[in-house]
Amino acid sequence: MTIDWTNVREDFPILKRKINDQSLIYFDNAATTQKPKQVIDAITNYYQNYNANVYRGVHTLSGEATQVYEDVREKVSKFIGAKQKEEIIFTRGTTSSLNYLAKSLASKIKAGDEILLTYMEHHSNIIPWQQLAKEKNANLVYVQLTNDGKIDIEDYRKKLNTRTKIVAFTHVSNILGTINPVQEMTKIANEKGAIVIVDGAQAVPHFEVNVQALDVDFYVFSGHKMLGPTGIGVLYGKMQWLEAIEPAEFGGEMIEFVQEYKSTWAAIPKKFEAGTPNISGAIGLGAAIDYLNTLGMKNIKAYEDSLFKYLYESLLDIDGLKIYGPDDLCERSGVISFNLDDIHPHDLSTALDLEGIAIRAGHHCGQLLMRQLNVVATSRISLYFYNTKKEINQTIQALRNAKEFFNG
Ligand code: PLP
Repeated sequence: MTIDWTNVREDFPILKRKINDQSLIYFDNAATTQKPKQVIDAITNYYQNYNANVYRGVHTLSGEATQVYEDVREKVSKFIGAKQKEEIIFTRGTTSSLNYLAKSLASKIKAGDEILLTYMEHHSNIIPWQQLAKEKNANLVYVQLTNDGKIDIEDYRKKLNTRTKIVAFTHVSNILGTINPVQEMTKIANEKGAIVIVDGAQAVPHFEVNVQALDVDFYVFSGHKMLGPTGIGVLYGKMQWLEAIEPAEFGGEMIEFVQEYKSTWAAIPKKFEAGTPNISGAIGLGAAIDYLNTLGMKNIKAYEDSLFKYLYESLLDIDGLKIYGPDDLCERSGVISFNLDDIHPHDLSTALDLEGIAIRAGHHCGQLLMRQLNVVATSRISLYFYNTKKEINQTIQALRNAKEFFNG
């Protein structure tokens, strides 16, 4: 299938917006992606035509809502190559999935155990483990990065030992764009008997992910970074692990029988979905997956890779611009962090905003990594398939203008 990537933009109403009298150029896709009208319409359709709570009624509307909600579970399961749809738990997003796991796995952790993280983790894959370690008197251990922003596999091997109970790392860095060798890292960790948890927030939106091929124990991601709405996310777990862990939230719909002083749990996955779930969010996520499947994840990856190469080479051409992360583009996804001379990223971002260009500036929820890079902040451009070379050209020109302006 040949895709007209410019035509795809017609599906995204927001891309018609003017910001400061200029056409919007949206380069903050790692923070959240824009939504196609198919997703917006699916959510509206639910509220207009079959709004009801799931599982709770035998009336027609509840049956329809439940059916669509469960169909989305199946869609997600196929999208990431899970073995069965029951391995898909709906959450509020990556952060919520990781917090859930940290609570659910608490019973498996005792004093002196180790939780292995890396220096490229988003805060949401650090703080829940810090809290767990504090509660259990366990130790956090960090894997070093190489100078070009990859996980130091030798250090990873060295730090894994029989005390390591959990290994949690990101599939793709939201700052460096590094794609980590998940399969290899999982194999090494499993040999030591550690549970492997992978943060796929920046991976699932951009390329095909197959959790069975990766052989991870848990894999988490957010709907809003892959065209879906905010407030919906996924916690995938191998069935044997979901059977071995306790729920961490309690209440309606996650129970089988309730007695005065004890209760039993519903079957998986409902055991892990207490209370009314984000039904419209799940429906929006389902529409997002349909949209991505129509384009094809292989096509998306190929197009984004070509766009990224163009961006990378154009940025290299700007004097005084320092790029962080791997030089080998095969090891990167569509995120690039940089600094330009001594211009503060917030100033740079403000200058670009005046020209309608949205980039991100700051520590990107990665203060540990900022310290490793010896900077307080970076500017970040993150791509999606609705971006174009023309937008890149305009941004490069805007960066050159800003350089001239700030350097007088
Ligand atoms: N992990 C990574 C790698 C991310 O990029 C993000 C968001 O930027 C998160 C976790 C947190 O995602 P959310 O805010 O959707 O929970």
